[in-house]
Amino acid sequence: MTEKAALIDTGWKFDNSYTRLPETFFTRQEPVPVRSPKLAVFNERLAAALGLNAEALQSESGADAFAGNRIPEGAEPLAQAYAGHQFGYFTMLGDGRAVLLGEHVTPVGKRVDIQLKGSGRTPYSRQGDGRAALGPMLREYIISEAMYALGIPTTRSLAVVTTGQSIIRETELPGAILTRVAASHIRVGTFQYAAKWGSPEELRALADYTLQRHFPEVSKGGNRYLALLYGVIQRQAALIAKWMHVGFIHGVMNTDNMALSGETIDYGPCAFMDTYDPATVFSSIDRQGRYAYGNQPYIGAWNLARFAETLLPLLHDEQEQAIKIAEDAIAGYNALYQQNWLAGMRAKLGIFNEEAEDEALIQDLLSLMEKHKADYTNTFRTLTLDPIEETELTKTSDYAEWQQKWHARLNRQQENREASLQLMRSSNPAVIPRNHRVEEALEAAVEDGDYSVMERLLEALSKPYSYHAEQADYCMLPDRSGRPYRTYCGT
Ligand code: AMP
Ligand code: MG
Repeated sequence: MTEKAALIDTGWKFDNSYTRLPETFFTRQEPVPVRSPKLAVFNERLAAALGLNAEALQSESGADAFAGNRIPEGAEPLAQAYAGHQFGYFTMLGDGRAVLLGEHVTPVGKRVDIQLKGSGRTPYSRQGDGRAALGPMLREYIISEAMYALGIPTTRSLAVVTTGQSIIRETELPGAILTRVAASHIRVGTFQYAAKWGSPEELRALADYTLQRHFPEVSKGGNRYLALLYGVIQRQAALIAKWMHVGFIHGVMNTDNMALSGETIDYGPCAFMDTYDPATVFSSIDRQGRYAYGNQPYIGAWNLARFAETLLPLLHDEQEQAIKIAEDAIAGYNALYQQNWLAGMRAKLGIFNEEAEDEALIQDLLSLMEKHKADYTNTFRTLTLDPIEETELTKTSDYAEWQQKWHARLNRQQENREASLQLMRSSNPAVIPRNHRVEEALEAAVEDGDYSVMERLLEALSKPYSYHAEQADYCMLPDRSGRPYRTYCGT
């Protein structure tokens, strides 16, 4: 049975501000206990950063807590209500297989959500069983930690426990629970829920709460809700540009999977692009390519427009005025995104200053990659190596021509070659979670209970910019089997 029990010296310091929001935003819900929790992976570095006692958390009672069988002192579990557009269609959602244990305040005063994902049914579960399979939870662990090391805002993964219970999908799979750490779980969909089903006061309470939690610098006076909209637009423009820089494809950019904190959230069918092609889609459920790599910036704008709509009553008393304000703000997203994207792409090419032709230079390289079916990450990696490592692309005359233009461009800035290379080394990851490497790690863990492959992968992924010779293996492409890579969602 679930019991309230203090865990000795674990270091949890809960202060649950979300419970002080109007009750329409959540339902108090304890995790549903599982049969025999076992710690599968534990993130010692993250635990230390959060001020938690790693040793205590790796004990049996720690595993009980990560499984939801024991509620840490101060936690007040709840399931959050939210709605969202899924592949363009609006629907009521909510935490159907997750509970928020509460907010932990770290020794430096940072507030983070501690969420158990896969913790059993809640009032928002609809037809679902509230559970998660081990493979996808380990996958979220690997990719979110890789994103963190890449310097991309993201939720983090503290632990994965196996439950000792099977879950039924297409086949029987081992069940697991992921402990997710996030700046918050407030989504565009949380505001959509408030706008559709909450009172005006409730919507305002959510907006005030979000401002206080994520934009404390916004002052009390002026149009605070416009500042909220701008702030969210800015963070998404920056975030999505970073995804594009490393070839990350989120896979399900539904509005419920867009966090207002600006962190990447909900790693389902996400993956990193290998061969450069803007139309790349890995997700088996994305048949139309709505969330293809090259579409992500546009979907960002679309989602932000849905967010802006929810704020209309707060932006101005007169609806027409409110719409005008919202439209102007959303119109600013494209330029912001473009700025972020260009700045990052310049850095990837070792360019410090700005010239009007830079965008064309970048686009030319991307076109070459597409034409010659070059690997996105390895192309930038090879440009970063000195001397470059020959690839199919760099052997072409197309490339030779482009390289001349690039080198001429580099010569038109003050910084020397070494400075450029250094900038490139910190902007072009040599190691990304390549699909075949992730699959290999998951297979060993799930099929054989062998976590060593995953540990080694996590170690390589933790230093993506180190350009260490011993990581070279992780830069290699898979042997092409001819079968396109597919990721599966929500299993
Ligand atoms: P996701 O695709 O993970 O973003 O989830 C979309 C919605 O489906 C959210 O409301 C989830 O809580 C819900 N959901 C996903 N899987 C399950 C499950 N196994 N049981 C209950 N709800 C689920
Ligand atoms: Mg989701």
